[in-house]
Amino acid sequence: MKKILIVGAGGQIGSELTGYLRSIYGGSNVFAADLRHNEALAGDGPFIQMDVLDRDRYAYAVHKNGIDTIFNLVALLSATGEKNPQLAWNINMGALNNSLEIAREYNCSVFTPSSIGAFGGDFPRDNTPQDVVMQPDTMYGVCKVTGELLSNYYYTRYGVDTRSVRFPGIISNVTLPGGGTTDYAVEIYYAAVKGEKFVCPVRDVYMDMMYMPDALRAMVELMEADPKNLRHRNSFNIASMSFTPEIIYNEIRKRIPDFRMTYRIDPVKQGIAESWPNSLDDSCAREEWGWKPQWDLSSMTDDMIAAIRKKNL
Ligand code: NAD
Repeated sequence: MKKILIVGAGGQIGSELTGYLRSIYGGSNVFAADLRHNEALAGDGPFIQMDVLDRDRYAYAVHKNGIDTIFNLVALLSATGEKNPQLAWNINMGALNNSLEIAREYNCSVFTPSSIGAFGGDFPRDNTPQDVVMQPDTMYGVCKVTGELLSNYYYTRYGVDTRSVRFPGIISNVTLPGGGTTDYAVEIYYAAVKGEKFVCPVRDVYMDMMYMPDALRAMVELMEADPKNLRHRNSFNIASMSFTPEIIYNEIRKRIPDFRMTYRIDPVKQGIAESWPNSLDDSCAREEWGWKPQWDLSSMTDDMIAAIRKKNL
């Protein structure tokens, strides 16, 4: 990776990935792009305001700046996508299709995250294997499975270097999540630090989660991995922790004993959560490119509370 373009850079993952990649590859080599202008990202490196569905503009940005690697982070997430499935399909697949075609034309590598939301139907919920039948119930999941297949197709048919991980719910303290089913696991920390009662929209359901520093490292390690070791490409299971709302609540209460949580179930989010894995088997990622998480629930909780306290909300 020498000249990198991140599309959807203003979101939860992109806003941190941009700084992380700039710290490794140099500020001027990492271009951030988003629909909306983003002052923070424009401050320490190149920023392009553009709609990735505008293929000519996207191709021009890649060509003009000599881009060799694209991180395609544009998507409508699971809960938001269920409110407008056609829009989710148009944005998620439109962004991927343009990214793959432009990568083919300009010889770029492409990273597009898949998700635990790609799973669905009848599959083992515990320790879900890498290769299993995937029949998701959401438009978000339909886009993710289609995206995995399409990205593999571009690799085998055209030799485009496509790579991907299936992210669990990502927990972070810089940018709030953008409408996913796992958002509660970020919001709960803000409520706890602000001294507010937390009303949780899902109950008694295990989902895989990951702290942002592990997610950032995973993307770089996979993109830097020796291709001859990759038997899979789109997309690798990766995992670091799995918990229910009650478990994260009790972990926070060890540090903030007065914190209280109640439930008001959101049937859409509860249904989505129950259709997803309880935990993933990430042994292929460990074997093929050396994936290993560094954060667990306890160390993440210490760090999240300290970081949110510093914001003086
Ligand atoms: P997000 O919703 O926070 O950010 C998406 C960004 O895309 C936003 O800044 C938005 O302005 C931008 N965008 C939307 N339409 C655009 C367009 N037409 N042109 C240019 N920019 C556009 O999403 P995120 O949480 O950062 O997720 C990034 C990727 O990671 C997505 O593919 C998502 O499915 C995947 N993922 C995220 C999580 C998670 O927990 N955050 C988990 C699994 C997978």
